[in-house]
Amino acid sequence: MAYIEVKHETRKFIQGDQETIANHDISFNVDRGQIITILGPSGAGKSTLLNILGGMDNPTSGQVLIDGTDIAQFTAKQLTTYRRQDVGFIFQFYNLVPNLTARENVELASQITHDARDVDETLRLVGLADRAKNFPAQLSGGEQQRVAIARAIAKNPKLLLCDEPTGALDYQTGKQVLQVIQDGARQTDMTVIIVTHNGAIAKMGDQIIHINDAQVQSIQQNPQPTPIA
Ligand code: ADP
Ligand code: ADP
Repeated sequence: MAYIEVKHETRKFIQGDQETIANHDISFNVDRGQIITILGPSGAGKSTLLNILGGMDNPTSGQVLIDGTDIAQFTAKQLTTYRRQDVGFIFQFYNLVPNLTARENVELASQITHDARDVDETLRLVGLADRAKNFPAQLSGGEQQRVAIARAIAKNPKLLLCDEPTGALDYQTGKQVLQVIQDGARQTDMTVIIVTHNGAIAKMGDQIIHINDAQVQSIQQNPQPTPIA
């Protein structure tokens, strides 16, 4: 059984007499441990889809099966538990707590779950063991994003959702950050979904889902994901 099965998922937004269809009849499957990239231009509906997969929003219709359970039917309380226990998030901007050190930022996240990863081991995994005592302002953009990755994977999520994770970084730093995400996925058996508008980044996915104008345009199986570095 696939870890994620999205079936005919549709999300409409209604404001006054104006209706926007952000996702229209979206279907795809993801196996456990896969890295999936969702590629499409601005406004295509990528963030809407990611929000639904992360339990931050509900579809208007359709099913979103995670490990066989339809989270589209979850109550707000069930969604909160799902977000806390099962999902790690990485955004374009790092959203670190400024008055906590790198280590404390990661620690804070690991306290949420009972089966958290070891904080120091997680910092080593992202290559930041020697930066643990630094505050975010003392770190480069790439290092801050690596703290954010450590924070996301410290709670040992089954699913890691990344929305334009290198959008604020230069090319070389972005590559290193993607490498850390890829290594993290391979070493922890997380399922990873990366939203990007960048075709080069999309090639790191085991599947590339092309989204345009709210719909899946094509799903490309990618047996040889491009190594990042
Ligand atoms: P992308 O992430 O690919 O840039 P989005 O999922 O953010 O695309 O947006 C898809 C469409 O849905 C856009 O037309 C956007 O304006 C609309 N949309 C997204 N969120 C909302 C919302 N909360 N209310 C109304 N319209 C929305
Ligand atoms: P855009 O024009 O969409 O901003 P850029 O080429 O400037 O795209 O790159 C945006 C981000 O994507 C950068 O952070 C960069 O690190 C990353 N990136 C671009 N191309 C690649 C690639 N081939 N491999 C890995 N990362 C890439």
